[in-house]
Amino acid sequence: MHKYNRRLFLKNSSKATLAAGIGMSILPKLASAANNNPYQQQPLPYAYNALEPFIDAITMEIHYSKHAASYAKNLADACLAEKVNTAEISLETLMQNISNYSVKMRNNGGGHYNHEFFWKCMKPGTSSMPSGKILSLINQSFGSFEAFKTQFSDAAKNRFGSGWAWLIQSSDGILKCGSTANQDNPLMDISTLKGKPLLALDVWEHAYYLKYQNKRPDYINNWFNLVDWNFVATQLQ
Ligand code: MN
Repeated sequence: MHKYNRRLFLKNSSKATLAAGIGMSILPKLASAANNNPYQQQPLPYAYNALEPFIDAITMEIHYSKHAASYAKNLADACLAEKVNTAEISLETLMQNISNYSVKMRNNGGGHYNHEFFWKCMKPGTSSMPSGKILSLINQSFGSFEAFKTQFSDAAKNRFGSGWAWLIQSSDGILKCGSTANQDNPLMDISTLKGKPLLALDVWEHAYYLKYQNKRPDYINNWFNLVDWNFVATQLQ
């Protein structure tokens, strides 16, 4: 078997075992998503239960296969209706010009971009600490890693209603924490928080309610155990 096919086969087999365990099949989605089209939902880079105990498997399953999948589907519909040539215009460029499009494009384009980014910000197992360039930028921008964590957590706690907390790099190279409402993000021309996303946290209730109910601060605090600092470092300008 070709190396890539074998890898896909093994990946699908383990997903299938998991999917069978929860009474559903996700194989068709994986097959269609294996095309690297950034406008389509890509395979989740780990199993639904891989982020336990901090994020439970059922939350991950519903979040990925229902919520995030609908944003991707509705984005595709909006792109057809508004004649966006997805082979020509990158998702980032679409975000940067989002004020030229409908509310449906803004909500679902943002929803799709944010979730694809969010999955990659996390990894199974215990989080590493940032090191190298990302750590020195954090120290330079916030004073210390602990001070960054406090600012990021406050942004996540204080976002009223649904939205996202972000660590971004602004055009002057400095890192900042902030939040956006609904499915907006710091790439969007309509956003007051602007910069290159480095790290994102989904604070919609659908991201945590089954396990944490009203305790958003506990979700935020536990989520830091999952951050993939190597991914964050690759997002620096
Ligand atoms: Mn979400």
